[in-house]
Amino acid sequence: MHPFRTIYIDMNSFFASVEQHEEPYLRGKPVGITAMEGDVGCLVAASYEAKYFGVKTTMSIKEAKILCPKIILRPSRHRLYVRYNQRIARIFDQYAELEYVRSVDEFQIALGGTTSNLNVASKLVKTMKDALKYEIGENLKFSAGIGSNHLLAKIAGKLEKPDGMQWLSPDNMPQRLSNIPLGDLPGIGRGVLFKLNSAGIHNCEQMYNLDPRHARKIWGSIIGERFIRLLQGEDIPLETTKRGGYGNSKMLAPENRTLKNAYLVSRWLIEKSVARLRRDNYTASQFSLFLRIQNPRNRWGHSVKTHYSQDTAHFLDINRRLWRMMYSQKHPYLISSISVHLGNILPLNKRSGEMLLPMEMAKKNDRERLSRTLDTINKRFGASTITYGINKAHNGFFERG
Ligand SMILES: [Mg+2]
Repeated sequence: MHPFRTIYIDMNSFFASVEQHEEPYLRGKPVGITAMEGDVGCLVAASYEAKYFGVKTTMSIKEAKILCPKIILRPSRHRLYVRYNQRIARIFDQYAELEYVRSVDEFQIALGGTTSNLNVASKLVKTMKDALKYEIGENLKFSAGIGSNHLLAKIAGKLEKPDGMQWLSPDNMPQRLSNIPLGDLPGIGRGVLFKLNSAGIHNCEQMYNLDPRHARKIWGSIIGERFIRLLQGEDIPLETTKRGGYGNSKMLAPENRTLKNAYLVSRWLIEKSVARLRRDNYTASQFSLFLRIQNPRNRWGHSVKTHYSQDTAHFLDINRRLWRMMYSQKHPYLISSISVHLGNILPLNKRSGEMLLPMEMAKKNDRERLSRTLDTINKRFGASTITYGINKAHNGFFERG
C-alpha cells in the first residue's frame, strides 16, 4: 500500500456543536447560528439536527424557519469558537504531529514513519476522537480524511459526515470518487468547472487520468498541474503553493506577545519547520523572518542566504542575528505575529559540496546528524523531549495567509 502522509480533520457543525456543548438545553435540538443578533440575515452554521430538515449554512433565516419551524437561533460568538479551536489543537498536539491549523474548525496532522500505515493512522484518528470526547465532551465530533497528501486527505474528509473517517490513496483512486460530482471537490469552483467541461472532462475519473501538463493548459496555470499531481497521490508540500519551501506562521496569543516570549515562539517554529525539512530529506539555503509588530504598529522582515543546510542550530543562529537586527531598528514592545520560512530548497541527495563548508554530495555534516538523532529521540519519547535550548510551544492560533 502507498504510504499516508496527512490526516485532515474537519469539525462537524463546529459553531453549533460548541453552543450545544456550552448550553446543554440545545443538545439534540435543531440550532442555527446567525451572523447577527435577531432574525435578519443568514445562518453561518447549523446543527446536524437542523441539517436533517434541509437547513444549510448560508441559508437565509427566513428560509431556514420555513424548513424547520422549531429551529433555535443563537448569535455567532467567534471569540468563543477560537478558544475551542485552541483547546482542540492542544489536545491533538498531545497525540499527533499537528502540522497546521487550517481554519477555525480544520486541522492538518502530519504522518510519517509508522503512522504512515493505514491501520496505525486509523487508530490515531480513533484516539483523537476519544480524546475530544473525554477532555471536552460528546458534542464535538469531526470527520477525518487520511490521504497520501493534503489534498487527498481533505477530499477523504468530506466523504463521510458526521463523525466519519475515510481514506484516499492511489490504491482506491479514482474508483472511490466515481459518484462524486466534479464541482464538489475542493478547489474546483465554477470557473474551473466550466473550463474542465469545455475540455470534455465531466467526472472525477476523467480528471484523474489527465496528463498534469494538459491540466496546466486547461486551468491556464500551474495550479491545474499541481492539482492533478496531488489527485494522483504525489507528495507536494502545501507550502510550495505559496512560497516553495517550509514555513510556519502564527498569530500570537496576547500573553505571548512580549519580545521575549515572541522570540521563544520563533525558536519553536524553526525547530518544527527544520524537523519537517529533514523528514522530507530537503535542505534549504534561505531563511526568512517576518514579524508583525503591534506596538508601535509596524512590520519587519528580512531574508538571509546561506549554504544548503538542514541543521536546526544553524537556522536558530541566523534567527538570533535577525532578531538583534530587528530590535536595533524598531525597538518594539509587542509582536503580534511571526512567520519563519526556509526557502530555496533542494533535496539532500542533490546537494553538492559547498566552498565554505566542504562536504561530499548528499552527505550530512556532524550537526545535521545530531539534528537527525534528536528527531529520532523526540519521535520515540514525545515531541520536545530534547529541544535546542529554550523554546515556547504555541498551538492553536491560526496560520496566517
Ligand atoms: Mg467543518
